[in-house]
Amino acid sequence: MPDEMARPLIRDRGEGGGGSRHLEASASELGAPVIGILGTGDFSRSLARRLVASGYRVVVGSRNPKRSAARFPEEAEVTSQMEAASQADLVFVAVFPEHHSTLVELKPTLAGKTLVDVSNGLRINRDGPSNAEQLAELFPESSVVKGFNTISAWTLQMGPRDGSRQIFLCGNCRKAKSSVMQLCRSMGFVPIDMGHLSSSLEIENLPLHLFPSWRVPVLCTLSLFAFFYVYNFLRDVLQPYVTAKKNVFYKMPIETVNVTLPAVALVMLSLVYLPGLYAALLQLWWGTKYNRFPNWLDRWLTSRKQLGLCSFLCAALHAIYSLCLPLRKSARFKLLMEFKQVKEEDVWVDAEVWRMELYLSAGIMALGLLSLLAVTSLPSVANTINWREFSFIQSTLGYCALFAATLHTLLFGWDRAFNPAQYRFLMPPTFTLVLALPIAVLLGRLALLAPCVAWRLGQIRRGWEKSRYIRFALPDDGCHNGLEVASNV
Ligand code: NAP
Repeated sequence: MPDEMARPLIRDRGEGGGGSRHLEASASELGAPVIGILGTGDFSRSLARRLVASGYRVVVGSRNPKRSAARFPEEAEVTSQMEAASQADLVFVAVFPEHHSTLVELKPTLAGKTLVDVSNGLRINRDGPSNAEQLAELFPESSVVKGFNTISAWTLQMGPRDGSRQIFLCGNCRKAKSSVMQLCRSMGFVPIDMGHLSSSLEIENLPLHLFPSWRVPVLCTLSLFAFFYVYNFLRDVLQPYVTAKKNVFYKMPIETVNVTLPAVALVMLSLVYLPGLYAALLQLWWGTKYNRFPNWLDRWLTSRKQLGLCSFLCAALHAIYSLCLPLRKSARFKLLMEFKQVKEEDVWVDAEVWRMELYLSAGIMALGLLSLLAVTSLPSVANTINWREFSFIQSTLGYCALFAATLHTLLFGWDRAFNPAQYRFLMPPTFTLVLALPIAVLLGRLALLAPCVAWRLGQIRRGWEKSRYIRFALPDDGCHNGLEVASNV
């Protein structure tokens, strides 16, 4: 018995043991369904292993079975493409789409069978037809199901415990699709029915997207970073050099970055809450929630999660940079110089001590709240809380984070905004620029909390409309009359 347990579940050919078969093989012998795979590449090999481990009999079709057989588990039969196609009712086409046409001689053998197209394209295909639709055209008498292309050969090999569990499927034949769905389930994956074969283009494009929803937020973060970095460089590094020949270029890698990061974080966090305020104002202005927002506002509203995560990243980096500040040689040197020169009563200024304590506390609080927002934006966490809890965290605690971050910046600035020496090159200190947006957002939010405004907004969001008349215009096909009808409903 211990020997049995030590043996691997699936073994490659030639691993010894000759005719000895394993658990899966015995399942196969008991009449397990036969699954065919055309192609003997990486995907085919991983799929064959997973199918064998799930108790299926696998027949792999190759142009050169002798060459490929050694790479498959011994429970899988590696044979000619024709033989594999004739033995199985469900056949995976694990061949690149440009070679699909080389399989046409199998057309009569594959008639009435289910073909699973696992192929991916090289680049995003917006116009179609998809690979699966082209395969369906090549094999009109077979039922083509699209799927498995969104998981890698690695995920297949490791099984659903180590990777994505979802498999997106679509196909026109209900019976074929449900048999593939059943197969997915028995392999431990979760099939997601995406409907007819016309959805295959969408499924094929899924693995090719490169963070589409992140493009604008990342661009926004980088642009703000570049702007504030140059601004801080001019004020803190170049100005002392030009006016007093003081060389402080050493500040560029850490200090300048560290004053830039919180500026970007705060502006980005304000940008998370600004579109919601604007949308509320529009609804109050229109007196209805049934008007469509402009497209740019729609897109902005849907990017809030990404904007918030970018803000969190900058805030976290700012915290790490700040913790590292005392480690620098320059900081130690400055401290030593100050230590030699000043007396205790000069250093201990009560107001300064309090400012620093409050400043740090507000910063830590803001980072803590931002971390909470970031964690709850993860789908796996968001799925465990209800809508009210989610909106409490994202909205109420989010505004608390914005308030704490604004307070942190205000305490950092303190009275320096009123000190003319701070206006180097006539440029105001960075924090005065940064504070404008969050303060406007916080004041806007306060205004919306005023009872009469909140009541009206609440009514509008429950479907109340200022005008009971719905206005609609007939399409203006170049006519001049622009007929508008008002109907009382
Ligand atoms: P691969 O390693 O290059 O294997 C392709 C196989 O196609 C070859 O081993 C070959 O097997 C067979 N084939 C049949 N007719 C052919 C022909 N005329 N010319 C060349 N090869 C031919 O590719 P793969 O990585 O397994 O990918 C196979 C399919 O799975 C592709 O459509 C890919 O988009 C899809 N896919 C792959 C992954 C992955 O992680 N690899 C993930 C998702 C989807 P024989 O020589 O034995 O006939």
